[in-house]
Amino acid sequence: MARQFSGTLYDGQSAAGIDVMVEIVSVGLMLTKPDGSTDIWPYDSFTVMSAKRDGNRIAVSRVGASDERLTIAGSGVRDALDIYAPQHRRKSGRDTKQAILVSLAIIATLAGLYFAYPVLKNAVVAVIPESWAVAWGEAVVDSVPGTGDTCDDPAGMAVLQRLTEALTVNADLPYDARVRVDKSRTVNAFAAPGGQVVLLSGLITDAETMDEVAGVLAHELGHVRHKHALKRLIDIFGIQIVFSGIGGDLGTAGGLIMVLSYGRDDEREADETGIEILKKAGMPADGLVRFFDRLATKRAEMPNFSDFLSTHPSLNERSMATRAMVGDYVGKMPFSEEDWQALRWICGDPDADNEEAEEAEGTE
Ligand SMILES: [Zn+2]
Repeated sequence: MARQFSGTLYDGQSAAGIDVMVEIVSVGLMLTKPDGSTDIWPYDSFTVMSAKRDGNRIAVSRVGASDERLTIAGSGVRDALDIYAPQHRRKSGRDTKQAILVSLAIIATLAGLYFAYPVLKNAVVAVIPESWAVAWGEAVVDSVPGTGDTCDDPAGMAVLQRLTEALTVNADLPYDARVRVDKSRTVNAFAAPGGQVVLLSGLITDAETMDEVAGVLAHELGHVRHKHALKRLIDIFGIQIVFSGIGGDLGTAGGLIMVLSYGRDDEREADETGIEILKKAGMPADGLVRFFDRLATKRAEMPNFSDFLSTHPSLNERSMATRAMVGDYVGKMPFSEEDWQALRWICGDPDADNEEAEEAEGTE
């Protein structure tokens, strides 16, 4: 079933609508605007205002103060919405016995699909070859602003390698972790499909101790352990991605960055697994807690796609939850101050980076 439709977006301010591409994905309506930017309307953020009888055109309206409206047209659009959003499922139309029976049959089928989906998804994720996941992961990484300038100072690389090995040796990961640092002022890190973890250098220069970097890396390895990125990819692009050719070419697909916006359950699971990974490695586990605490005070500077801000559990909530998981455990960092400095210099002089950042803030 086609899940991609053409739509017109009315922003409530100007009368003219904007042509958008609308994809019905498991988390909501994904809008792609003419300039290529994307937006997600979660299913609980809008109501269905009207639907044509033939099911080929619907109009939805954003809940709340905004007057945003969207019309979506295309064969089967109503059915597609029904599958993904049971809360918007249409009421039984004609009041005849047969219509009710047919509706019941449809609802039973849709409910079956709805409940079977997670099972089906996990089964598919389990059999996707690592090489496909890696190829998709590379496309996802390339879609993130600030990536591409990978740092390779030998001393810094050696410390990163040791840190990665120390954390992964007992981490029970489905893939080899491929960890790299890309030069960027942004404080961010993410785990893409196929075990690829990118730390932006802004995160390292912003961190006060190596414990914090280890904590963030352990959290990302938590996403790797549970293949969260691959599951999100399938949520967004559909199970048919697996049938779209060997290693499916995602190079030009829009909305790839949405793969990295995990839900609250995934974040909790990654926090929990991250703490477990730190403990197994014998490292201090409170670095992640301190990282959340510090970030909470500088939320405004963070990019909105950041792994650490994009989802519902607030930083305070996550700080408290991870603190509880750490308990009275105390670890020891198997790295020297010299190692930490080498890591800080992996992209060159970290202070030069900070000066640039201050200048840039001053001019904005
Ligand atoms: Zn995360």
